[in-house]
Amino acid sequence: MTKVILTGAKGRMGQALVACAARLPGLSVVGQIDVGDALADVLDAGDVVIDFSFHSATAALAELCAERNKAIVIGTTGHSPADRARIEALQTRIPIVLATNFSTGVNTLFWLTRKAAEILGPNFDLEVVEMHHRLKKDAPSGTATTLVEILAQARGLQLESALRHGREGIVGERTAGEIGLHSLRGGDVVGDHTVIFAANGERVELTHKASSRETFANGALRAAQWLHGRAPGLYNMQDVLGLK
Ligand code: NAD
Repeated sequence: MTKVILTGAKGRMGQALVACAARLPGLSVVGQIDVGDALADVLDAGDVVIDFSFHSATAALAELCAERNKAIVIGTTGHSPADRARIEALQTRIPIVLATNFSTGVNTLFWLTRKAAEILGPNFDLEVVEMHHRLKKDAPSGTATTLVEILAQARGLQLESALRHGREGIVGERTAGEIGLHSLRGGDVVGDHTVIFAANGERVELTHKASSRETFANGALRAAQWLHGRAPGLYNMQDVLGLK
């Protein structure tokens, strides 16, 4: 039995996790933490914390897990580089799954994106478009950021100099070393991501559309069960799904 504690439990993902966990054998939710609650008060009752809260909250929650020797699955996105470094520093002490997207479909998209970039080569221009609901707080999405990281690595490009966040004004002709990234917001869209490979005469588009948060919730619960009892380290969903 894996005993989990949810941080961000009252949020959209938190509620999806509560609903999905109730249908999952071998796992029980023993704590639900949101703003105003103290994780320290319930932490001893759990094996794994699942965090879908807010970018500035995660690092402190993870440090508390390290102090008490608890595993943590992190789904929150939008961490600053400094907070990301604080989280990654804990990998020698506790097992951590850090994933910008827990859906099996998106992790397949990650794999296909790398393959397509390798096969299609430098004649294809690379652009990523994401769309999410109007209430999403960070942009671009963590998943889109992972996609451009994969593209930059596959092409041997420095992401910082290659990235173009939207375009406006007289920006000049597109250069070969660019990776475009565009965030759309509106309505109740759970999460759409498209990777475009555009060359003269043809275009390849890889698209994933999530229509329910259950896909992320079930993936995160699967990650929690996989992580329980594992050695300290920094893992991602590719590890959980055996895609590496
Ligand atoms: P949300 O705003 O609906 O919920 C966040 C919840 O966290 C709220 O209830 C808020 O009160 C709570 N919270 C804020 N600070 C907290 C703190 N210090 N301690 C405890 N709780 C705190 O947001 P959401 O749509 O559920 O998304 C949450 C996060 O998960 C976002 O960063 C989002 O981008 C990310 N997300 C990741 C995936 C994935 O697969 N990795 C999927 C969906 C969303």
